[in-house]
Amino acid sequence: MPELPEIQALAERIDAALSGATLTRAEPLAFSALKTVSPSVEELGGKGLRSVGRRGKFLVMDLGNLRLLVHLSQAGRVIFEAAGATSRPKGAVARFHFEREPTLLIKEFGTERKAGWWVMSAGEEGPVAKLGPDPFSQEFAQVILDGDDPGRLHSLLRDQRRVAGVGRGYSDDILHRAKVSPYRSLASLDGQERARLLDAVRSVLTDGLEVERRRTGGLPPKLGDHWIVHGRAGTPCPACRADLRRVSYESHEVTYCPACQTGGRILADRRLSRLLK
Ligand SMILES: [Zn+2]
Repeated sequence: MPELPEIQALAERIDAALSGATLTRAEPLAFSALKTVSPSVEELGGKGLRSVGRRGKFLVMDLGNLRLLVHLSQAGRVIFEAAGATSRPKGAVARFHFEREPTLLIKEFGTERKAGWWVMSAGEEGPVAKLGPDPFSQEFAQVILDGDDPGRLHSLLRDQRRVAGVGRGYSDDILHRAKVSPYRSLASLDGQERARLLDAVRSVLTDGLEVERRRTGGLPPKLGDHWIVHGRAGTPCPACRADLRRVSYESHEVTYCPACQTGGRILADRRLSRLLK
C-alpha cells in the first residue's frame, strides 16, 4: 500500500502539474467512496487548486475555502489521464477534471474497495484529526525517546494515531535497520535502541522518498520494489546474508532477520500456534 514516501512524492507531482489550475469538475465514480455529503461535490467546480500536500497517508488538496482529501488505502492508485477521459474502468473511485492536463483518476486495483475521499471546508479536519504526529516531528521523537508503550513495535509503527504515514512495508524495513525485533515493545528498549529506532524510521522513509521522487506521472499498481526486507522472506538478509523469515501477525506477514533482529530466535506464528493447541 502507498505509505508516506509514495504519497508525499505523488503529492509533489500533482502539485507541480496542477497547482494554480481550476478544478472544473469532480466526478464520483463509486458508490460509498465519497465520505462526505456537505459541502457538495458540485461546489468543487470552479475552485482553483492552490497546493497539494500530504498528511499521514492522505493526499490533501487546498482549494481555497474547500479542502479535498483522498485516501488510497491498500490498492488505490492515481492515474494521470489525458483531458476529456470519460471511461469508467473497474475499481474507479473518482475523477477530477482540471482546466489543464492531467485529469486525475482514482482507481482501486484488486477487489478491496476501501479508498475514499472527503470534501470539506478549509478549517475542517475530518479524518486527519485522529492522526498522530509526522515521523519527522519533534513530537514523534519524544514518543520514541521517552514513551513506555507496552505493545509490539510493529503495531505501534503502523498505528496511524501514534505516528502518521507508516504501514506494513516500511515498518518491516525500519525495524530491520534498527536491528530490533518486531515483537519488542517501546517500553523494553534502552536509550541506544530508541535512538537507533528513531533514526531508522527517518532514514528508511527518507530513502524511500528519494526513490519515489524519481517517478513520473501517477502512482502505478505495483509499488515497493525498493523495499529492503519487506516481502523478501526466504532471500538473504542484505546486512548479514542469513535467510530472512516471515511470521503471520494480525492478518498480515512481517518479514525480519533472526540474526540481525531477534538474537537468532524464530518468532512464533500466533495463528499457527493457536491452531495447534
Ligand atoms: Zn541479517
